[in-house]
Amino acid sequence: MTGPGQVRSHQQVTEPPLLETRGLTKHFRIRSSRLNPHGGAVHAVDNVSLAVPKGGITAIVGESGSGKSTLTRLMARLIKPTSGELLLDGRRPAASTRRAYATHVQLVLQDPFSSLNPVHDVRYHLARPLIVHKLAGTSLDQAIEGLLDRVSLSPAALFTGKYPHELSGGQRQRVAIARALAVQPRLLLADEPVSMLDVSIRLGVLNLLADLRDNDGLSIVYVTHDIASARYLADVIAVMYAGQLVESGPAQTLTDEPSHPYTELLLSAAPDPARTRVTVNLRGKGQVPNLVAPPPGCRFHPRCPHAMSICAEKAPMPFEISPGHLSACWLHASGLDESQRAPRARKEA
Ligand code: SF4
Repeated sequence: MTGPGQVRSHQQVTEPPLLETRGLTKHFRIRSSRLNPHGGAVHAVDNVSLAVPKGGITAIVGESGSGKSTLTRLMARLIKPTSGELLLDGRRPAASTRRAYATHVQLVLQDPFSSLNPVHDVRYHLARPLIVHKLAGTSLDQAIEGLLDRVSLSPAALFTGKYPHELSGGQRQRVAIARALAVQPRLLLADEPVSMLDVSIRLGVLNLLADLRDNDGLSIVYVTHDIASARYLADVIAVMYAGQLVESGPAQTLTDEPSHPYTELLLSAAPDPARTRVTVNLRGKGQVPNLVAPPPGCRFHPRCPHAMSICAEKAPMPFEISPGHLSACWLHASGLDESQRAPRARKEA
C-alpha cells in the first residue's frame, strides 16, 4: 500500500524487483543544545517505497539535501533505517548477513580519490575483495586483468602497479567500479559517480555503466542531481524532494511530460533540445526546506508556483498519470472543492 508522499517505481507492478524499499524512513537525531534546547531529528528520508528492477538502470534524482544519498546508504545497509523495510529478492536480509548482502549489492561513492587507499596500488585494491570473498579462481592475476578489462582499463599491466594519485579522475572511478564488480554483485549503487569528474570524461563513465547493464545484465541505481544525465542513462527515474519521492516513471516519459512541479523545476535548469515537450518554469525558486521541521502537507508547497490551499494541509497521495508514471501532486486529483483549489500565496524560501 502506498501512502502520502510515496511514489512507487512502475516496474514494481510489471516484474518482481531485485531490491525494494517499503516505507523506508531515516531520521537522524539531533542532540539538544543551548541554541536548540529541544533537540529534534533531521527527517532525511521519509516513507520511501521504491522498487529496483532486475537488469535496468534506475536513477534517483534530486538536489542537495533531498535525501538521495541517505537512501542509497540505507539500500547499501551502511546505516539502519528508523522504520520501514528493505527487501532483496522479496526477502528481508538477516541482520547478521551484511557480508553476504555486500556480495549482492555494492556501493560506488562520489569521490574516487577518497574511496581508494592512497598507499595501495590498483592491484591491491582489486585483489583484496577477490581474496576475502574467495573469488579469484585459479589465477588472481587473471581475475584482476578481467576486472580491469571490464572497466576498459587495458592493457591491465599499465594500471596494476599504479597508485591512486597516478591515475586520472576517470581512471580512479573506473578502478572503484572494478573493485565493486570484484564480488560479482547483482546491483551497483552508484552515488553521484561522475559529479567530481571533468565534464570531458563523464560521458565515458556513464557509457561504462550503460555497457555493464547491456552486456552483463547488471542492475544499477544511479544517484544524481543532474536530470539530463539521468535521462541519458536511465530506464526509470525517481525524483526525490526533501526526503520523499515525488514522481517516478519511465525516463523519457517523465522528462518529456513531467507531472510534478518540482520535476519541472529540475528540467528547467537542464535544457535539452532532445526533449519533445520542453516544460520551462523558472518561478519555483528557493531552497530545500529545513528537514528538522519539514513543511506540512506537500513539502514543496513553499516553493511551488501552483500551490493551492490543500497543499499546505495534506500530503498528496501518488496519482497515476499514465501506466507506470506516478506523481504525488494535488494538481492531478479530481474531486477537490473550490476552497481546496484556491491558490495559496507563495513565500520565497
Ligand atoms: Fe505540491 Fe501542491 Fe505544488 Fe503539487 S501543486 S507540487 S501538491 S504544492
